[in-house]
Formats: sequence, structure tokens, C-alpha cells
Amino acid sequence: MNDTLYGMQTLPEVSIVLSGMSNFEQMKDNVATFSGGDDLSDEEKNILAGIADSMKAGVPCTACRYCTEGCPMGLDIPMLIAGYNDMKFQTAMAVPMQMEALPAEKRPESCIGCGACAAVCPQQIDIPAVMSEFSEMLANGPNWAELCRQREEAAEKLRAEVAEK
Ligand code: SF4
Ligand code: SF4
Repeated sequence: MNDTLYGMQTLPEVSIVLSGMSNFEQMKDNVATFSGGDDLSDEEKNILAGIADSMKAGVPCTACRYCTEGCPMGLDIPMLIAGYNDMKFQTAMAVPMQMEALPAEKRPESCIGCGACAAVCPQQIDIPAVMSEFSEMLANGPNWAELCRQREEAAEKLRAEVAEK
């Protein structure tokens, strides 16, 4: 049984829970989940509310990609927003590494703030503001390429010392 789904159903602010199903087993699981059970404790409800609150820090991009065609910089906006959301939700170490692996002209700091994307976004996301904040978050985070270079340098030094002995 999916406790998170059932827990959402017991929150007074939630009027309906949409749960996707791909096969008969998943449907049976969902039926079992929503057939009831013990109410969640206050502590469990607080944990769920905390998770929901932290998710509100992100933006509701549905990856429809309406915004990408008109971007003069050719940015993969939904992919960048997914990274932004991951970093907002929790400290996601993989995101800075993923961004550093992109060509410089495809990173969020390449956004020129023209607003062409925001004008067509059905979710009314202020995409230029997201790109700007995401760039700042990345600039203030660890530089993974530099950390890897330092580690490799230290390992090389150690190897040389061992070879001399
Ligand atoms: S505001 Fe940035 S992300 Fe949006 S279309 Fe312009 S350059 Fe692309
Ligand atoms: S148009 Fe809006 S919702 Fe659609 S992919 Fe772009 S940012 Fe996301």
C-alpha cells in the first residue's frame, strides 16, 4: 500500500488525488490504497506537509516544451527547470555536475532575459527569473570540475611519492 498517497487523501486541503496507473497490478494496488486504512498520525501528516511545502519552492513546469522553440539561445528550458527544482527541493549534488557537463552556451547563465519563453508558458512561469536564480545558485555552489581536478592532482602527487620510494 502506498502510504504517501493514502496520507494525501486524508489531508483536509486535498479534494482529489490523481494517481497514474500503467497496468492491472498497479490498479489493484491503488484500489487497495484508497480502500482505507488507519489514519496517519499527526507526526506523519506533519512530515507530508513538510515535503509538500518544500516542493512549493520549485516551479510547476510540465515539460510541454512550448517555450523552447522561440528561445534565441536554444536552451533546453524544461531540462534546466528540472535541475532548478531538484536543487530547490533538496541539496542535489548531481545537478551542479550535470550543468557543468553542458556546453557553456547551454547553461542557465546563457539566458539573455528576453522573455520569449515566459510569453508562451501555459504555467505562467517567470522563466528568465528562474534562469537568473538558478545561475546564482550554481555560482554559489561547489565547482565540481575544480574539485575533481584537485583530487586528481593530489592522487598524482601521491603516486609520484610512492614511485620514488
Ligand atoms: S528569457 Fe532566456 S530562456 Fe527565455 S527565451 Fe529568452 S533566452 Fe531563452
Ligand atoms: S512552456 Fe512552461 S511548462 Fe512548458 S516546458 Fe516551458 S517552462 Fe515548462
